[in-house]
Amino acid sequence: MREGQLDSYHGGMTSNSQRRVLLAKPRGYCAGVDRAVEAVEIALEKYGAPIYVRKQIVHNVHVVKTLEERGAIFVDETEEVPRGAIVVFSAHGVAPSVHDEARGLGLRTIDATCPLVTKVHKEAVRFADQDYDILLIGHEGHEEVIGTTGEAPDHIHLVDGPDDVANVHVRDPEKVAWLSQTTLSVDETVATVEKLRERFPNLMDPPSDDICYATQNRQTAVKEMAAGAELVIVVGSTNSSNSVRLVEVAKEHGADDAHLVDYADQIDPAWLEGVTTVGVTSGASVPDELVQGVLAWLAARGYGEVEEIESVQEKMRFALPHELRKDLRITPV
Ligand code: SF4
Repeated sequence: MREGQLDSYHGGMTSNSQRRVLLAKPRGYCAGVDRAVEAVEIALEKYGAPIYVRKQIVHNVHVVKTLEERGAIFVDETEEVPRGAIVVFSAHGVAPSVHDEARGLGLRTIDATCPLVTKVHKEAVRFADQDYDILLIGHEGHEEVIGTTGEAPDHIHLVDGPDDVANVHVRDPEKVAWLSQTTLSVDETVATVEKLRERFPNLMDPPSDDICYATQNRQTAVKEMAAGAELVIVVGSTNSSNSVRLVEVAKEHGADDAHLVDYADQIDPAWLEGVTTVGVTSGASVPDELVQGVLAWLAARGYGEVEEIESVQEKMRFALPHELRKDLRITPV
């Protein structure tokens, strides 16, 4: 197709001169993901391969594949790690029983749990110590939910969205607190809490937001961008909770269509039919090179003009896991 030539699509006419991309900011790596991936990279450099990682270090297929190529071995359960080996716990956190199991197996552990997940674990322990029933808003089966529940299994009840509120049973309706997974939809969580409060007027709030800054900021950015885009492409993996939420939020806030892709070659050219403005963003576990791949794919189809829409500035950084910091001080890498 010649530069500037008009294309005729089923859904309308767009010309190359009109086509553009709105690029959300912030997007991609959050401080917790950055720290967890760096922990595995440094462990590989310092201690040598193989380094075992329990579960996916972060929920992104490209990150996992890249670390595997460098010598990381991903396992589902701690018992799969050979005695004496090093195992890294993922950013999503683990139950205390997993720490106990690793200790029993004589493993060296590096805990890459995001500090903001650890904060929710501590809140769970504190409410459980005060004998509250804890309503944990989250998605059943998600690793973070499993880890948090493991802190107080006798006190925590999972609430999987507003429609699940009616199924909740507690011992004392006067003594109930709520917590949440860090990567939920902000709006849906507000709706769930409102419904919970209708049932339990004395519902105790967490001391601070459990949905983390990165999830909130990426949703704020996608809301702003989606209002001006017919199509939104979210780069991220299907098991990444915060990435899946970005697709939902884009559709709820103005985009006609939104899709999740791991790589640019998963974009279906038919999605672009009649589209003038494409919004692009990425989940908190996505390296920016994958977004650049999507931008290059779009540019090759006439969407070369890119405008970055920055809604919030982010400066958050977390220190490396303490096991690494301790060792790095003894023998600097
Ligand atoms: S998405 Fe939030 S909770 Fe999860 S690793 Fe990133 S900063 Fe931590």
